Amino acid sequence: MILYFHKLVESEQDCISDDMPVSSFRKGILSLLAEGYSFVSLSDYLRSSAGEKENLVTVTFDDAHHSIVKYVEVIEELDIPIMVFCPFFNVKNGWAVDEAKLSSEHSFLRKVYKQSGVLFRWVCAPFIPSGFYSKCLTFDDLDFLYKRLGDNFSIGGHGAFHIKHSVINSISVLLEVGLSRAAFKGRKGFCNFYSYPYGHYSSVSKSIVKKFGYRYGISTESGGEDDMCIRRINGKTMLSRFFSEGLK
Ligand SMILES: [Zn+2]
Repeated sequence: MILYFHKLVESEQDCISDDMPVSSFRKGILSLLAEGYSFVSLSDYLRSSAGEKENLVTVTFDDAHHSIVKYVEVIEELDIPIMVFCPFFNVKNGWAVDEAKLSSEHSFLRKVYKQSGVLFRWVCAPFIPSGFYSKCLTFDDLDFLYKRLGDNFSIGGHGAFHIKHSVINSISVLLEVGLSRAAFKGRKGFCNFYSYPYGHYSSVSKSIVKKFGYRYGISTESGGEDDMCIRRINGKTMLSRFFSEGLK
């Protein structure tokens, strides 16, 4: 199974949306290891046969949250490969607009921001109040993580401004995918994988992602029919189900 996570936080009280307490993450991974699952990189997982996949788990993180640096000791201790899908501008700026926080107090601003294209976001991002930013990995952090985790650390594309492909036109999709590819190609740990922001894709966006040289397109719970829409499972939901019901 391919699990996806977002931000790791200190405790349950700090969780917004898909955030996960680092202690629950650690406990969940250790439990899967104890159940006999092996953790492999996303590349190795995708290369495995259907039979082999049944006992394999791979861990991905979306959005390049800074918590991966904050909790690098935990990743190191678990000794598992991780793939981090990075939106280009989150990494370039070292921060991203925290849409979950924004939605609780500025629902109109969030609605406008979510539906805007690349150029509009570029212009409007500095006007979002700084209390609604969330810290992201920078290019220096990516180098640091690669040094620290070695082959256990990989990065892939996740858009430029992390815009849902279904709300923008093909030109903006081209910018999203192309800028992301240009920014990360050639960096240490880069793999030819593109995670669709919010897991949304269409036949047009699939072909754009493929044309830019990405080998796999990665979705969330949808897809699964071909290499350009690989299906994943929400790691937080899966691990909490695992603790309450056990694995089926
Ligand atoms: Zn994302």
